[in-house]
Amino acid sequence: MSQTAPLNADLHCHSIISDGTLSPEELALRAHQNGVQVWSLTDHDVLGGQERARLAAENLGMTYLAGVEISISWMNQTVHIVGLGLDQSNAVLEEGLRATRDGRGLRARQMAAQLEQAGIQNSYEGALHFAGNPELIARTHFARFLVEQKICSNMDEVFRKYLIAGKPGYVSHRWASLDEAVSWIRGAGGEAVIAHPGRYKLNTMQMDELYARFKDLGGSGIEVVTGSHSPDQYKTYAKIAERYGFMASRGSDFHDPHESNIDLGLLPHLPEHLKPIWSVFH
Ligand code: AMP
Ligand code: MN
Ligand code: MN
Ligand code: MN
Repeated sequence: MSQTAPLNADLHCHSIISDGTLSPEELALRAHQNGVQVWSLTDHDVLGGQERARLAAENLGMTYLAGVEISISWMNQTVHIVGLGLDQSNAVLEEGLRATRDGRGLRARQMAAQLEQAGIQNSYEGALHFAGNPELIARTHFARFLVEQKICSNMDEVFRKYLIAGKPGYVSHRWASLDEAVSWIRGAGGEAVIAHPGRYKLNTMQMDELYARFKDLGGSGIEVVTGSHSPDQYKTYAKIAERYGFMASRGSDFHDPHESNIDLGLLPHLPEHLKPIWSVFH
């Protein structure tokens, strides 16, 4: 018997509405051209692109899952929780995301004040120019400003020299809680997924506590194949998915054609023995 090829799902990317540079329509077209069959736009803490993304995706014949990537604070670190297949008009989710966005403007002013002390002028205005909206201003927009000003030659250099703990331009921030993010997503009928687990500066015990608590709260998925993981990490997080009974997700975390090292849809497939999170929606 011939085996059916796995679906090409890309369930993590960003548009101009948060900190990407392409419109939802441009992303949908790019995903489709790269062979994506199941797609989700997961802007940071905002649902403003969902309607456009769905329309564009469905016009191209892709299956669309409404998505979001929620910033949370866990043990003094920032962790990202992706929500998939949710009702984008859910009022509790919308209000929770609005509250999460609320602190970004002030945080950006504090980041700019620090950069000023390091001799970099007008970075708030510069970052806002890229963000368009103080509610959605992210470190990504500051990073683009630092590259534009030739203070750094690329985004990697920015995130080594600036905007991270211990370097100029870093301001610690209290985001939503894990409980809130998972309950907003579940309340809106979606599946909650731990984004790029390989990126967190948490030790094994702290990660285990995160997985266990997330599962208790009703979280069901973990990103295994993402643009943020090395092939070794695909294996590490495949084992975590098995150990905790999580479904696995796959997403490029694409932001921009020049900045992102992995394009939409062009990732390895999930290891075969894992249950893909998109199987819930078929
Ligand atoms: P924020 O939500 O304002 O803390 O900004 C976080 C965003 O910064 C992430 O969503 C990424 O888009 C970007 N970012 C963080 N670390 C890096 C990195 N090492 N390289 C490139 N982009 C990064
Ligand atoms: Mn981002
Ligand atoms: Mn993220
Ligand atoms: Mn992301």
